[in-house]
Amino acid sequence: MEQLQHIGKVIIAGAGPGDPELITVKTTRFLQQADVILSDRLVSAEILHQYANGNAEIIYVGKQCRRGASTPQSTINQLLVHHAKAGRLVVRLKGGDVSIFSNILDELQALVENKIPYEIVPGITAGMGAAATAGIPLTARGYANAVRFLTLYKSDLLTQEYWKDLANTTDTLVFYMSSETLETVVNNLTANKISEENLIAVVEQATTPFQRVHVSSLYDYEINLKGREFISPSLIIVGKVVSLQEQFGWLANSSSNESYFEQVSAAIKNLITTQKESVYAGRA
Ligand code: SAH
Repeated sequence: MEQLQHIGKVIIAGAGPGDPELITVKTTRFLQQADVILSDRLVSAEILHQYANGNAEIIYVGKQCRRGASTPQSTINQLLVHHAKAGRLVVRLKGGDVSIFSNILDELQALVENKIPYEIVPGITAGMGAAATAGIPLTARGYANAVRFLTLYKSDLLTQEYWKDLANTTDTLVFYMSSETLETVVNNLTANKISEENLIAVVEQATTPFQRVHVSSLYDYEINLKGREFISPSLIIVGKVVSLQEQFGWLANSSSNESYFEQVSAAIKNLITTQKESVYAGRA
């Protein structure tokens, strides 16, 4: 009963796309104050090293679709509710921005159902991070009228009519979670006669030291990109703006095949053990 009188709070915050400096000051302040941190897989370990409260319990709830272990959404919801009801300040840290291709809705519903106060803090989404570090201004004047954030993860949702619209638009298209369906993206756009002015860029591990950008004409996909395995996470940018990369890209492509976020996962895991041990040691 006593615990319920001191109900805690949940901060749902974006950690940015990879580079640990691309996080808001507000989120770093909440991390310093946090009692509990629930962190996604696509969060730089450096952020937790630098900003997490030394006494915070760090819980790794990384989800990796198709590969390896993942924490069910219902467990994440339960953890948020449980710790907040025990009066704790909980930071739910997500990769990029919290409102772009994340399960924020499920978490918000769980919080509202349980009358738990919360705040939402934005982050830099991967598409914007990649635009900056690849030198591809997403709505450059004379090149694009708008930008769309899309995914082909659920391919059944995209109808032929939709593809026709995507092939004919002057909007820049940014596809998340779609490197495994890259060929489908390209085939549907070329089948619908997308203009040759529109190029495609695949940006691997954007904003990290291992960033690599591959640019091609959509019609030369078979020569330049087909069969390549891209290191996760990567995203796809399609549009006339991609042609600006050659002139304005400022970060050299990495020659390493290392995975930034896999290293990070291992590092977060170490942190969890160390911090849990220290919490238990403190209590003993
Ligand atoms: N909420 C996140 C997106 C989560 S979906 C955001 O706002 O960025 C995960 C997808 O985001 C990945 O499959 C990939 O397409 C993209 N992504 C995340 N981080 C990335 C990075 N550093 N480089 C390239 N793509 C990234």
